[in-house]
Amino acid sequence: AERGIALEVSNLTKRYGAMAAVDDLSFHVDTHEILGISGPNGAGKTTLFDLVSGLTRPSEGKVVLFGEPITNHRSEQICHLGLARTFQLNAVFDSMTVEENLMTANYFGHRNRSFPALRFDSHSREACDEALEIVGLASERKRPAATLTGLQRKLLMLASAIATEPRLLMLDEPVGGLNKDEIHQCAEVIRHIRAERNLTIVLIEHVMSFVTALADRVMVLHHGAKLYEGSIAGMAESADVVSAYLGSS
Ligand code: ATP
Repeated sequence: AERGIALEVSNLTKRYGAMAAVDDLSFHVDTHEILGISGPNGAGKTTLFDLVSGLTRPSEGKVVLFGEPITNHRSEQICHLGLARTFQLNAVFDSMTVEENLMTANYFGHRNRSFPALRFDSHSREACDEALEIVGLASERKRPAATLTGLQRKLLMLASAIATEPRLLMLDEPVGGLNKDEIHQCAEVIRHIRAERNLTIVLIEHVMSFVTALADRVMVLHHGAKLYEGSIAGMAESADVVSAYLGSS
C-alpha cells in the first residue's frame, strides 16, 4: 500500500474581520491514519474542513492533498482528487431512495472523473453497491431516505461519501445525536471501512468514547489554533486541554 502524507496543512489562516476562525494552523495526516479533531464550540473545526474541502477560501496558508497543492481549488476539483467529506447536518436527499442518494453522490463526486460524468456505468453501479454493503444498508436500498432511522441516515451519509471512492475521508461529527449503542455501531462501521479500503480518515467529534475507539492520534483546536496534538492518553493529561474545556483559558 502507498505510504506517505495524505494531507498537509501549512500556516492556514481564515479571518472573518478581526477574528481568526483558523489561526496559522499547521499539521499533517499520514496515509491510512485516523486523526481525531476535537475542541470547544467555535474552535474552528468546521471552518478547517471548509478550507480543506474548498468550500471557503483561506486568508493565508497552503493545503496539499496527496502531494498536490489544492489551495484555492474548487470543491469539485478537490473531490475529484479523492477527498470526500460529510457535514454535521443531515445532508441526505429525503425524496430519493437510498440507492438514488448513492448514485447521485457517485455521479457528481467520483474521484478521477470530470463533471459532468459521461454516464453511470457498471463501475459506478459497483461502487454504489459496495458502499451500501460496507455500511450495512444493502437491504434498505429501495427505501426513501426520509423513512430511515437516525443511525441509518448517518450510515447513508457515510455510504454516499464512500460511493465517490475517496482516498481521504473527512467526517464532521459523524455520530452527533446518536445514542451510546448507535455510536458503538457507527465506530464499528468506520473501523471496517478503514480496514477494507485502506482509507485515510480525519474526523471531528466531541464524543470522546468514539474518538478513543477509532483515532490513532488527536489534535485539539482552541481559538483556531492547535492546543494539543498527540496520543489520546496524553490529551487527557494536558493541562491546556483541560483548562480550554473548563473555559478558563
Ligand atoms: P462547533 O463545534 O460549534 O461546530 P467549530 O469548532 O466547528 O464549532 P467553526 O464553526 O469553525 O467552529 O467556527 C469558528 C469561529 O468562526 C466561530 O467563532 C464562528 O462564529 C466563526 N465563523 C464561522 N464561519 C463564519 C462566517 N461565515 N462569518 C463569520 N464568522 C464565522
